[in-house]
Amino acid sequence: MTVSVFDLFKLGIGPSSSHTMGPMTAAVRFLQHLGPALSRVVRVEVALYASLALTGRGHATDRAVILGLAGFSPSKLDPDEADRVVGEVRAARRLSLGGAHEIAFDETTDLKWEGRTRLPQHPNALKFTAFDAGDEAVAERIYFSIGGGFVRDQDEMGLNTRDEPGPPTPYPFDSGVELLEQATAADLTIAGLVRANEEAMRPRQALDDGLDAIIAAMYACIERGMRTDGILPGGLKVQRRAYQVHQSLMANADRSIADPLAALDWVNLWALAVNEENAAGGRVVTAPTNGAAGLLPAVLRFYDRFHQGTAEGRRNFLLTAAAIGALYKKNASISGAEVGCQGEVGVACSMAAAGIAAALGASNAQIENAAEIAMEHNLGLTCDPIGGLVQIPCIERNAMGAVKAIDAARLALLGDGQHSVSLDKVIATMKRTGEDMSAIYKETSLGGLAVNLAEC
Ligand code: SF4
Repeated sequence: MTVSVFDLFKLGIGPSSSHTMGPMTAAVRFLQHLGPALSRVVRVEVALYASLALTGRGHATDRAVILGLAGFSPSKLDPDEADRVVGEVRAARRLSLGGAHEIAFDETTDLKWEGRTRLPQHPNALKFTAFDAGDEAVAERIYFSIGGGFVRDQDEMGLNTRDEPGPPTPYPFDSGVELLEQATAADLTIAGLVRANEEAMRPRQALDDGLDAIIAAMYACIERGMRTDGILPGGLKVQRRAYQVHQSLMANADRSIADPLAALDWVNLWALAVNEENAAGGRVVTAPTNGAAGLLPAVLRFYDRFHQGTAEGRRNFLLTAAAIGALYKKNASISGAEVGCQGEVGVACSMAAAGIAAALGASNAQIENAAEIAMEHNLGLTCDPIGGLVQIPCIERNAMGAVKAIDAARLALLGDGQHSVSLDKVIATMKRTGEDMSAIYKETSLGGLAVNLAEC
């Protein structure tokens, strides 16, 4: 299948692509599945399983389900509007299905948190059942939120991503080897190859406008994060840091001349800003997930600010990063619930390393090397968010990942692209490591920092 740049970089809402955006999309799809039967529905029951149940409250899955059933999709939802809608549903215990048909909806009985019960296909599963006035089931459907906001229903779930039909493209690729071979044969950069594939699906102008809109949304998120102070929601009382760090960097601008690593303070700031916005339920771009949404914007901004970035360079950054993200999506996973944080911050780090390497003029072999280095040193990264919130370690982890991505690209640029471990090998290793990883480290908040904080 073709994984488009616009599949990986999507406008969405925080705090989680798999636990917020995915369930919201699943609810909208259930409404579509109901079709004309919607008018007969008097009650909807939603069951959340495994990771969705264990970290769903911290990841705002309950809010997402309400909003989806009310007909809102992540790309169009205004975060302020979301608060109002959820508040009204909770106060009235009534919900307008798809904004068109009012039913009773009591979260305490209609939302079932099924705890550790895991459906065999995927740890992020949710089942919707709609009932009529006689309490007969009108429809029942299971959906799986498989990471990055991607959703599959029970029929689609058996498909391997690589087997899914997709639009024809001139340079299809399923592995890093195929990507490099196709690019060499066509005498294209990786960004050029992805551009050719994308332009088979839409005109050049639409592609460039879309890429520029993604970049603008990423930068708008950075700006909002830098000017917003206060405590993040969720009960952990995590203080936003981006606001203070920004004030401090602005007040000490001279330091950037004396301190050779001052640029990293800015990279840290930009990543913190985005992930604090994400944690607050704000508007973000999946890259490739919400939990890892700050890493790519921070590295892209670093390229812009410290390497005099150009429009072409920024677009090439995203196109190249998308090629790498597609390889992980096809051959491993971008879901923390499936493979731990390797699949979120690890993949984002690999994508960003490739992106900035490309923007800085790296050869295709050096880009592949940069992506490989970045993942090699994220192997085994667990997902253990405290309180089930996308805050600790997630926010700071994006800053650390951004710096690592820049270093991976620099390391690759010092070489000629020759290296021992191929990107395909490291992706296979990441997948296997994720399979071997205990479930307590895969977005369940049953292990790691999530349970050991008190003893530390
Ligand atoms: S630890 Fe990583 S994978 Fe887990 S919620 Fe945070 S960012 Fe996502």
